[in-house]
Amino acid sequence: MKIRVSAGTARILGLKKLKMDASMTSAYLMVGEHCVFNCAYCAQARKAKSRQDMLSRIVWPQYDLNEIVARIHDSTFLRICIQVVNSLGYFESVLHVIQALQTRIPISVSIRTLDSRQVKTLFGMGVDRIGLPLDVATPRLYHELRGGDFHAAKSFIIESAHHFPNKVSTHLIVGLGETDEELLSIAQEFIDARVLVSLFAFTPVRGTQMESHPAPPLARYRKLQFAVHAMAEGSIRFQNLEFTPEGELATVVDLPLAKRRRAVSTAGCPGCTRPFYNERPGGVIYNIPLKEGCEVEASDV
Ligand code: SF4
Repeated sequence: MKIRVSAGTARILGLKKLKMDASMTSAYLMVGEHCVFNCAYCAQARKAKSRQDMLSRIVWPQYDLNEIVARIHDSTFLRICIQVVNSLGYFESVLHVIQALQTRIPISVSIRTLDSRQVKTLFGMGVDRIGLPLDVATPRLYHELRGGDFHAAKSFIIESAHHFPNKVSTHLIVGLGETDEELLSIAQEFIDARVLVSLFAFTPVRGTQMESHPAPPLARYRKLQFAVHAMAEGSIRFQNLEFTPEGELATVVDLPLAKRRRAVSTAGCPGCTRPFYNERPGGVIYNIPLKEGCEVEASDV
């Protein structure tokens, strides 16, 4: 079986020459390609005309699975993150990859599903954390941009976290057309349900339906990072925030200096840095990778 790994992972595994000035403590693997879904912002979407080897703005070269497994065993990675593209037969492929990995390195799986049996099966196989991305933070846009039912997707994430506390993450994309109020409202619901919330900045990718849509302003992204961080640590609640009539956050959420660095760093599973997932080298850095990987542990939410 062939498997795609992120270009940065391939570099660390000694399979690709690449100039990269960022530390990476997680190996990123991609299972499946050509998704059955058609998310307007995704390079793997059914109708996207993007390069087949792309996800977000990252290139994912393909290698033999056995070769990747052998090199991961000899690596110092702290985590393996499997990004699942829902192509035909994707779930069997994920199971096959997990079985082939045979490792003590914690595995995270990021997957779009509404099937609780799949979640149970993955945890039953020893997967450490599961990411169930909501991506689109408002029912106003969910059906149009992601397809499917916002409320069903949200409830599924919350229910999964109920069954597997502190083991479930979700992603929210900033800049799809949602307001600050919409995004922070859903973030609070997830935090209350002990779902770890990671923010992504919308990244226009060539060949997707949203290729001409702008990335969010950094100032807005920082404001939302500060607010989500403060909500996750319990120092503010959504209900105490003020918004303009247009839904823009009007409360200044300030954090002590020591916490600011953490608030603007890549949030996610321990050991995850996701370098340049949203950002071009030399361009705006939305999520700053910490050298040692994410510091936001499950117990922090
Ligand atoms: S479900 Fe995930 S992989 Fe599939 S089109 Fe949507 S974002 Fe892309």
